[in-house]
Amino acid sequence: MPTPGPSDHPSTTCDSCGAPDDDLAPVHRVYVTPAAWDLGSPDERGEEHVQVLDEVERWCFPCRSLYPHQPLT
Ligand SMILES: [Zn+2]
Repeated sequence: MPTPGPSDHPSTTCDSCGAPDDDLAPVHRVYVTPAAWDLGSPDERGEEHVQVLDEVERWCFPCRSLYPHQPLT
């Protein structure tokens, strides 16, 4: 029985947790850094620093519920 390759079956496992799932959605991963960690940015003092990655990942529903992300529209 052949092992499915990523190019043949691109949407069968979550890119975040690696779990097989049929309900995957394309998202941009978002990194949220607390302001206390970002001492070099006075303009953003008191706010979170948010970084949205350009790379598109496919996430399962649990990951979309648990982790910050930006859905593709
Ligand atoms: Zn997942």
